[in-house]
Amino acid sequence: TGYDMEDAMIVNKASWERGFAHGSVYKSEFIDLSEKIKQGDDSLVFGVKPGDPRIVQKLDDDGLPFIGAQLQYGDPYYSYLNLNTGESLMYYKSKENCIVDNIKVCSNDTGSGKFKCICITMRVPRNPTIGDKFASRHGQKGILSRLWPAEDMPFTESGMVPDILFNPHGFPSRMTIGMLIESMAGKSAALHGLCHDATPFIFSEENSALEYFGEMLKAAGYNFYGTERLYSGISGVELEADIFIGVVYYQRLRHMVSDKFQVRTTGARDKVTNQPIGGRNVQGGIRFGEMERDALLAHGTSFLLHDRLFNCSDRSVAHVCVKCGSLLSPLLEKPPPSWSAMRNRKYNCTLCNRSDTIDTVSVPYVFRYFVAELAAMNIKVKLDVI
Ligand SMILES: [Zn+2]
Repeated sequence: TGYDMEDAMIVNKASWERGFAHGSVYKSEFIDLSEKIKQGDDSLVFGVKPGDPRIVQKLDDDGLPFIGAQLQYGDPYYSYLNLNTGESLMYYKSKENCIVDNIKVCSNDTGSGKFKCICITMRVPRNPTIGDKFASRHGQKGILSRLWPAEDMPFTESGMVPDILFNPHGFPSRMTIGMLIESMAGKSAALHGLCHDATPFIFSEENSALEYFGEMLKAAGYNFYGTERLYSGISGVELEADIFIGVVYYQRLRHMVSDKFQVRTTGARDKVTNQPIGGRNVQGGIRFGEMERDALLAHGTSFLLHDRLFNCSDRSVAHVCVKCGSLLSPLLEKPPPSWSAMRNRKYNCTLCNRSDTIDTVSVPYVFRYFVAELAAMNIKVKLDVI
């Protein structure tokens, strides 16, 4: 199918629906009231304003969420009172739903503080999604590429359907034979109802692990090498090659799409260069670097390249004096006070002292910055506008 290329792995959708590889992420947040107000002021306390309709049934009387409460975006998060001015209500700002796991009321480091610091621990349940990372105990990591319907997965003669499918090309170069042995050990243990001893160095050339577990598998009526005949889940046709199938311990790794995905339409720009800023938490752009540029050049997709690097970045329209070629000399002339400043924009070259030589060109905004920096170093930039 191609969904197992380059360390990607296919997961049985039915297993996923039964809770396969479910995990929770714990996130803690410290809220220190003494940081919200100037030193020495004691007028901030956690609490709710009685009868506030926004927090009925949502927050406890101490101004904190109930333990076990489900929070979603926009829910009341916590509330504190300024004894002089009134209530401040904070809302839950993460887009991810969570459950309040526990709340700790903290003092300061010496224990002499006034319990104005609070630590809220939230539990975020995370089912695997496409793009999440998994690994066995042998460093064989992989990315979930597709949740495959169980009825279309290959099955064994006894009707068993695997949870995970991965590509055997990951083994020869990495030489993680341990995973194959674990698979055989797990399979034989499951068949015989055993717990295997996993102490290292107990097997040798003479007494090999393959021999030991192979004999066990054979005794249970399976293939010595741990392979089985599989049938295509789509056509039902017997697969030509025997497939190695067994029991392996898999872990979920903490690189999840929901922590990493990034989108931007338009948004914040850098003050100096006017290019989109970077960073996931500020809705920034993803850098289109030199290597990406090379790729588009190699494809001959110059329109796309221009679009990425110019229109979607820091396109700007600059005024140039055609006569002296300067980008810096044209200045917006101050209109007479009776005119509308928006409608009658007149640029004037301060070097040539005329306005009929001014033309507009679209240039990257950084280029104007570059010209200004060069001017600061006494280097003149002259544009030939055709
Ligand atoms: Zn000029």
